[in-house]
Amino acid sequence: MILHPDTTCKYCGSSNLQSIRKPADHPHYAELRCVTCDKHQKWLPKPLEEMPVIDALQLDNRLTAWERSFLANIRKCKNLTATQKSKLDEIQERLTTLNKIPLWD
Ligand SMILES: [Zn+2]
Repeated sequence: MILHPDTTCKYCGSSNLQSIRKPADHPHYAELRCVTCDKHQKWLPKPLEEMPVIDALQLDNRLTAWERSFLANIRKCKNLTATQKSKLDEIQERLTTLNKIPLWD
């Protein structure tokens, strides 16, 4: 059970909300429910598999402005399209390659 301290119940205002994982055959990934009044708040989407990669890339200061806004946009997506996925791989590949370039001394 994960508490969501940033969110409050839309019915009673309680901040005592919890997310409940649904079984794999359920159409939704998880549910956000109020512990105080036991009312359903909203469905929670399955987090992107690529989320940790995107988070790590966003910290890189070698990103171009375009890449930065691209990453911010896809982070909000539920699913990546094939184009978005390959662009993400491309950015990751480029930054990884840059890391391998030896510095002249
Ligand atoms: Zn409530």
